[in-house]
Amino acid sequence: MTRKIAILGATGSVGTSTLDLVERDRERFEVVAVTAATKVEALADVARRTGAKLAVIADETRLGDLREMLAGTGCRAAAGEESLIEAAAGEAELVIAAIVGCAGLTPVMAAVDAGKMVALANKEALVTAGEIMTRAAQANEATLLPIDSEHNAIFQCLAGARIDDVSRIILTASGGPFRTSSAELIAGATPAQAVAHPNWSMGAKISVDSATMMNKGLELIEARHLFGLPSDRIDVVIHPQSVMHSLVQFVDGSVLAQLGTPDMRIPIAYALAWPERIATPAQRLDLAAIARLDFEKPDLNRFPALRLAREALEAGGAAAIVLNAANEVAVASFLAGRLRFPEIADFVERALANNDFPAPESVADVLAIDRATRSRVETLMTEGCA
Ligand code: NAD
Ligand code: MG
Repeated sequence: MTRKIAILGATGSVGTSTLDLVERDRERFEVVAVTAATKVEALADVARRTGAKLAVIADETRLGDLREMLAGTGCRAAAGEESLIEAAAGEAELVIAAIVGCAGLTPVMAAVDAGKMVALANKEALVTAGEIMTRAAQANEATLLPIDSEHNAIFQCLAGARIDDVSRIILTASGGPFRTSSAELIAGATPAQAVAHPNWSMGAKISVDSATMMNKGLELIEARHLFGLPSDRIDVVIHPQSVMHSLVQFVDGSVLAQLGTPDMRIPIAYALAWPERIATPAQRLDLAAIARLDFEKPDLNRFPALRLAREALEAGGAAAIVLNAANEVAVASFLAGRLRFPEIADFVERALANNDFPAPESVADVLAIDRATRSRVETLMTEGCA
């Protein structure tokens, strides 16, 4: 049986790893729609290679170029949010949600509302719309399949288990490029240093999030919504080798973990073929060569973003939206050279201190809080520079 798939964010890191798997098994997977933000050449190339019927560029000013590039291929070129929604809610059975940031929320929700299987890499969508999205998934019989390696590991460990039998979830974190750096060194970190992740090759935003450990904070919130456990039953442990991808402890004291080499194609393959499994070209795990696995406690003083995310999770309401929006703006400014590394967490903390938004009741509320927070943080940044 062929599975029809749409890849939202097809030109990114997760999108490219997904394509690598899908293009190896054309019998099993048919790519029907692909999307990207601005890179028309790369998107047109993906559309041609996969034979997709619909290619959507978010940036409407690039539609003419995309049309020209796809002329005569049989692939329809489209642009803008309505078309992103069409890609997500159209004929695909499985939607790979690999857009980065809250920008992916509207198409992800469209897929959920249409009752699709949604392979979710776009953690910011779930972090910001958590309960709204999980409720909609239940109401529309959509299935959320986590791609994020930690959540995919937990999902695998939970196969066949009752959630009532789970006592804790333990998320592993590599600790990022600054795990052993002093606070002074971290204070002077450059974008190039921050994106140089020791184990994983990923997009720029999530790489910076890994360096601040906001990534683990977002994953804490993601885990809460995916698995329904409260904050005090989700732990974070540093594991520098990134071999053990996360663990589940059961009421009897048994602990299950999922292990593998740090290659996103393993969790992506699990979501692509679920509930079956497919072969991947990922390097096999050689435990004797790795020799040892280390674990340590996270340092919340050097990595305050992790503390802020837990506080936002526990505060509830709009706090996770504010945390995420402030972080997205601050990370973009850091990458553009306008902010020092420790200021990312500083601006997130200031935004959370100013949070007076009511709890969101709809995606429209989430997007309004997201927009308002972005403009508040931008104002704070200009004031900070004056
Ligand atoms: P990336 O920057 O490499 O790719 C992002 C993709 O989203 C691109 O195709 C881009 O064109 C598209 N995009 C960006 N902004 C957009 C917008 N405003 N509208 C429409 N499309 C837009 O990012 P990535 O590293 O592939 O990460 C994607 C998501 O997956 C993120 O949420 C990240 O946290 C999550 N994730 C990534 C990895 C990884 O290994 N890269 C691992 C776990 C989770
Ligand atoms: Mg992860």
